[in-house]
Formats: sequence, structure tokens, C-alpha cells
Amino acid sequence: MSEQPIAVITGASSGIGAATAVALHNAGFKVILGARREDKLKEVAATLENAEYHVLDVADAASVEAFCAKIPRANVLINNAGGAWGLETIANAVDEKWEWMYDVNVLGLMRMTRALLPKLEESGAGHILNVGSIAGREAYVGGGGYNAVKFAVKAITQVMRLELVGKPIRVTEVSPGMVETEFSLVRFDGDTERAGKVYQGLQPLVAEDIADCIQWAVTRPPHVNIDEIVVKPLAQASASVAFRKL
Ligand code: NAP
Repeated sequence: MSEQPIAVITGASSGIGAATAVALHNAGFKVILGARREDKLKEVAATLENAEYHVLDVADAASVEAFCAKIPRANVLINNAGGAWGLETIANAVDEKWEWMYDVNVLGLMRMTRALLPKLEESGAGHILNVGSIAGREAYVGGGGYNAVKFAVKAITQVMRLELVGKPIRVTEVSPGMVETEFSLVRFDGDTERAGKVYQGLQPLVAEDIADCIQWAVTRPPHVNIDEIVVKPLAQASASVAFRKL
């Protein structure tokens, strides 16, 4: 019997990462989950037979090294950990917030990929899937720091495809629009009222919608590389234009 494929998912303690853990488990993967909140990881893993979880801070090189040392082999890496912090204009930009966004969304993605590339190649049919954003395609007022990191994710994804051509590793970017997760709570420092307004008067996507796209991309035959998926709610036309029934 062939070995069960392994999918490593970062940021799996909530939102898109947690839903992806379920979707890839259902697609036959053994899932290995990472994030900083161990209690949340435990909850996600509890419902998934033979799922593993380990604390992971992608912004900390030593944590990435320790996490990846526990992974015996890997077929799929879902670089999902990330997020936005703040919505200040550039005139009011806060260094700490920009640094955090760069560390998690960009350096974290690079560190995880660099550490697991040998194992993905050894698998003979590896796949790296980066969770980008429509913020990586379109600028919006107040988006400076987050736009910058998600445009970077798009660029890094393209570089990966160029550098890995000829190797058995597929490279995909999934770029969501509005998805109701903990994303806006994190962006607005836990302000539930402000976070709620982001989704007011429209039906946003849910994490499972994105997990569905990820599962689809990952389960195509190994010679088929889905380069990019951009997915938005019906009511969202662009990063800054949405129809709201208020
Ligand atoms: P979420 O519910 O806030 O999930 C973010 C995940 O990232 C959490 O599991 C969080 O876990 C993890 N994370 C944050 N910092 C981390 C770190 N330093 N090390 C390891 N894990 C870390 O938001 P989400 O919407 O599911 O976000 C997932 C991805 O989708 C992000 O890359 C985000 O930028 C992207 N995205 C979201 C939307 C949207 O509208 N929601 C749209 C486009 C793209 P811990 O706090 O436990 O570490």
C-alpha cells in the first residue's frame, strides 16, 4: 500500500487554514497543522483522524526550524499563515504593523518553503500553495502595508514557478476577496464592531469556500498546475467596490 500523502498547513488554528485542514483531510491527506495558539490547533485536530499539530510561529526562524524538523516527509505545503494589521494611510503608517505584516506574510512564507522544499521534491509530486489576496492585485486606500506584502506573495509565487520548473513541484496561488474569519478582528485589534462592519449588508465568503478551491487545486492530476485562483463574493467587484444592502 502506498504511503498516505502529507499536507502541511500553516495558520491552521482558525479561518481558512482550519477549513483547509478539514478539506484536505477529507481528500485523503494526513494533515500537519501549525500556528501559535496550541489550544485552537488542538480543537481543529481533534475532529481529524491522525492529524498532527505543533506550535509554529512563522515569524520566528527557530520556531520554523523546530516545526519542520518534526515533519518526516511532505507532499503539500499550504502557506496560509498571515493577515493584515491596521488600515492607516501611508502618512500615518505604523512601523510595527508593517514589520509584523512583512514578517508573517512574506518572511514566514519564505522560511517555510525553504525548509520544506527538499521534502516536497523527494515526494515526487510536491505542491506549494500560497494564500495571497486580491490585495495582492489591487491597491486600496489604507492598504499600503498589506497590499505590499500580498503583492510580494504574488511575486514570490511567480519566482517559485520559474525556479522550480523541471522539478516535480506544483506552485499555486489562491487569492481571496472578502472572507469572514478572524481576519478583520486581527486587522482592527479585536474591535468586533469595526470588524463586523467590513461584512455588513453583503454575504461574504466563508473559510470553507476557500478551502474548497484549495482542495480542488491540490487534487488535480500531478501534471496539471493551477497557477492562480481569484475568488470573491458575488457582491464584491474589486478590493474597494462592494454592493451592500443597508
Ligand atoms: P484568520 O482567521 O485570522 O487566520 C490567520 C491564521 O494565521 C491563524 O490561524 C493564525 O493563527 C495564523 N498566524 C498568524 N500569525 C502567525 C504566525 N506568526 N505564525 C503562525 N501562524 C500565524 O484569517 P484568515 O482569513 O483565515 O487568513 C488566512 C490567510 O488568508 C492569510 O494569509 C490572509 O492574509 C489571507 N486572506 C484572508 C482574506 C479574508 O478576507 N479573510 C482575504 C484574502 C486573503 P495563530 O494566531 O494561532 O498563530
